[in-house]
Amino acid sequence: MTESDPSETLFERIIAREIPADIVHETATTMAFRDISPQADTHVLVVPKTRYRNVGELAAADPALLADVIATAHRVAELDGLVDSGYRVVFNTGADAGQTVFHVHAHVLGGEQLGFFGR
Ligand code: ADP
Repeated sequence: MTESDPSETLFERIIAREIPADIVHETATTMAFRDISPQADTHVLVVPKTRYRNVGELAAADPALLADVIATAHRVAELDGLVDSGYRVVFNTGADAGQTVFHVHAHVLGGEQLGFFGR
């Protein structure tokens, strides 16, 4: 995807290191960085380096890459010491879920007791 591609999102620029981010973990296929507006003590975003718009498209096109995203989310939880206390992984998908960046990303949340969510 080129810089002139109108469909490029902020996250391609973070992956390319054109925009600074607090990167906590990286693999050959994924990157994890802290959310700029954290909603919990730990709030990390995990993205595949290849862009898909949402988790359904990713699952259909490349299930192994989706597994990489989940494995990186678990690694982030290990690095932040959350495995025993617990953590949440969320994929917002589409407008009603509040998705604003259309490069699939897992929110990894934890480090405190999380409330229920929905309406
Ligand atoms: P929402 O904005 O409703 O959470 P998404 O699920 O699409 O929708 O999540 C996008 C996330 O990206 C937000 O949590 C937002 O705080 C985060 N974000 C936006 N810009 C940056 C940035 N430059 N660095 C890190 N996180 C960012």
